[in-house]
Amino acid sequence: MACEKNYDVIIIGAGPGGIFSAYELAMKAPGLKVAVFEAGRPLQQRKCPIDGKKIKSCINCPSCAIMRGFGGAGAFSDGKYNITNDFGGTLYEHIGKETALELMNYVDRINLECGGEGTKLYSTAGTKFKKICIENKLRLLDASVRHLGTDKNYEVLGNIYNELKDKIDFIFNCHVDSVSETADGRYIVNTPDGDYSCDKCIVSVGRSGSKWIEKVCKDLNIETYSNRVDIGVRVELPAVVFSHLTSELYESKIVYRTEKFEDLVRTFCMNPNGYVVNENTNGIVTVNGHSFDAPELQSDNTNFALLVAKHFSEPFKDSNGYGESIARLSNMLGGGVIVQRFGDLMRGRRSNDARIAESTVRPTLAATPGDLSLVLPKRILDGIIEMIYALDKIAPGTANDDTLLYGVEVKFYNMEVAIDENLETNHKGLYIIGDGSGVTHSLSHASASGVYVARRIAEAVD
Ligand SMILES: Cc1cc2nc3c(=O)[nH]c(=O)nc-3n(C[C@H](O)[C@H](O)[C@H](O)COP(=O)(O)OP(=O)(O)OC[C@H]3O[C@@H](n4cnc5c(N)ncnc54)[C@H](O)[C@@H]3O)c2cc1C
Repeated sequence: MACEKNYDVIIIGAGPGGIFSAYELAMKAPGLKVAVFEAGRPLQQRKCPIDGKKIKSCINCPSCAIMRGFGGAGAFSDGKYNITNDFGGTLYEHIGKETALELMNYVDRINLECGGEGTKLYSTAGTKFKKICIENKLRLLDASVRHLGTDKNYEVLGNIYNELKDKIDFIFNCHVDSVSETADGRYIVNTPDGDYSCDKCIVSVGRSGSKWIEKVCKDLNIETYSNRVDIGVRVELPAVVFSHLTSELYESKIVYRTEKFEDLVRTFCMNPNGYVVNENTNGIVTVNGHSFDAPELQSDNTNFALLVAKHFSEPFKDSNGYGESIARLSNMLGGGVIVQRFGDLMRGRRSNDARIAESTVRPTLAATPGDLSLVLPKRILDGIIEMIYALDKIAPGTANDDTLLYGVEVKFYNMEVAIDENLETNHKGLYIIGDGSGVTHSLSHASASGVYVARRIAEAVD
């Protein structure tokens, strides 16, 4: 097959996984010809049309500016780089705990060199909150957290792009249709603009590429395993309620085992003085959050997710489908994300515009007031309510009537792909990394997986 262009390495996806692969290849193997194909736009052209005035909620753009483009799903994120093996993925199962931590620290150093200097590194080491949590049946997970903030994170991404743009070919607005292997072990990357060939192919398509990667694995006979889905709500409350925790730890990952069902409920993605935002995955609108580093851009609220992990056993395999169906239900009832006061939920009534307007917590996302008990399965909702009361003991005010709950928050996990200790598939030279592999679920782990694979490729060139 005649190809328009041949490369040594093609990277599919310009999220943190793809970017850090490109960065490391440019530094460690500058002789290689490398291209990055990205379905979304360059960083400066990424703009979500929601302006809070004319367009108040998600209009399902063909390519979601929040999820796609240079920077991937992380571009407008809070830029929280958690340096830990305790959560954020299971990369360490493939490459070892020490290497995983070493690479996360390396990524942190690059981020600092590229504009993140001066940002704070928080740590749970030696904190008094561990004891306080245990006394209240809660468990605080260990981590160091670099908080870049949405604004600094954007600046860092811009600087990394400027560093790479003359060394690597970036092809934006180009959704790769398929990947196939030739008889001589090269890869053909098929795009609407034509075919490209390469010796090594790094696939880093994130969550927005979850359906696509399933197809690629099926076509290439790469084994996949069904995974879990986490379902819950995003909690928004006055920042003062959690300020004793957030000022010391920034983000506290707290786990609670419910008394009723012994399910695990956990806090996730805590954003002090942040904003609640919509997230669009394959046309389904769910909720997420972020916050800025600059004080003048901060809100008076803190938000975080409360998630319940659902693992399924045979014969059911479609855990993401289950999460999508619940999210669709909220989209059907609310036209998007639903917001409800905790007090309304506990009184068994929907929230409405008047009750939200009277609330002492000003919502940072224009969501539809509604009733989350019509959306979330009872077992999940019971777990969330139990955890809100447990958190109220360490952060009094969490269970106030005016605390806002947005739903649903779904953390989709990609099918886990069969990759070895090099993050390579059963096809030599075809690597699957980042959240698209189902192995990582975070900025730090996805970025570390990118560096790891690039180093494997660079070593082979030496
Ligand atoms: C609002 C929000 C806030 C978040 N906050 C945090 C946080 O603070 N800390 C944290 O650790 N994590 C956070 N996350 C999660 C984090 O962003 C992801 O874990 C991380 O971006 C995964 O990186 P990745 O490179 O694997 O995939 P992604 O970042 O999803 O990038 C994949 C890229 O591949 C492209 N792509 C997909 N399919 C194709 C195709 N067929 N052809 C070409 N291109 C394709 C996509 O357009 C996308 O740009 C947040 C996520 C969201 C949405």
